[in-house]
Amino acid sequence: MTNMSSSYPWLSKHQQSLVQQISTQRLPHALLITGEAGAGKATLALWLAARLACVSVNHGQNVDQSAADIKQAPCGYCKHCKLIASQSFPDLLTIDEGDKTIGIESIRAVTKFLETRPQIASQKTVLIKQVEQLTVAAANALLKTLEEPSLGNTLVLTTNNTESLLPTILSRCQLISLRPLLTEQFKQNIGHQPYANTTYLPELQSAQENQAYEELASATIDLLVGRSNFPLFEQTLLTGDRALIWLERIVSTLSRVNQGWQAPESDKINWHAAQSMDSDTLMRIFQVILSANKRSRDYQQANKDVLTQQLAMTIREIVTV
Ligand SMILES: [Zn+2]
Repeated sequence: MTNMSSSYPWLSKHQQSLVQQISTQRLPHALLITGEAGAGKATLALWLAARLACVSVNHGQNVDQSAADIKQAPCGYCKHCKLIASQSFPDLLTIDEGDKTIGIESIRAVTKFLETRPQIASQKTVLIKQVEQLTVAAANALLKTLEEPSLGNTLVLTTNNTESLLPTILSRCQLISLRPLLTEQFKQNIGHQPYANTTYLPELQSAQENQAYEELASATIDLLVGRSNFPLFEQTLLTGDRALIWLERIVSTLSRVNQGWQAPESDKINWHAAQSMDSDTLMRIFQVILSANKRSRDYQQANKDVLTQQLAMTIREIVTV
């Protein structure tokens, strides 16, 4: 278990706080793990299931201290850990329909599973992957389960697309948002994938929105390569209400290409320009965008505009230094 999660180093802070919550008996009964493809959502979910079930760690005898960078990680050797690794642990139910929809019968199976007592563990865990694939009926059925927590059981949901989830589901889960590192280490860790796309943005299915996204990407690239047209960049950033989220994706894509990842195919956007950009500059810009996006969630629209203007100017300063 510990080896499995060490290939995603950014998970460890989440593992630490989960352990903390478990040991103080404050783990919520429903968690939603979000993050793009390759972010380690399923790995963290399975790690948590093992942590809740592990015989060794729950009896205070972690046998794997040397390999565990996380104190009290699941041991990986006990009967429960092994059953989880071989996908045959009777007190864990996994719903994984891939890209197909998750219908109401799957949620009925969850309810039924939770009705009975655990067979060998002290509690049961349900893992529902790609929860954005729930049908409306299934989502409403799941909501009932989330509203009536069954004693001691844990539901772990994963998604790369929180936008399409019912807000009522979101509000009943503790959110764990996974953000992979954009470093050389990241590239090595999931480098076997030629190109992992960033967060799924459903609005880009619309041709009009997609064109606006491409305009913002091109304006950003122009600014970064010194063909500065700052007014255009600022204006593009201010016109779209999703522009801050888009900018985060644009700059994370540029960072990846800059680190040697394959550039996305595009006639309109010159992603290859990222190859000659300065990595530190990209990283600094990425960080200011992240913190702006974090703050903007709590802001009213008028304040968002001010925040966006400030961000645009900060980016210009970073670029021109
Ligand atoms: Zn164990």
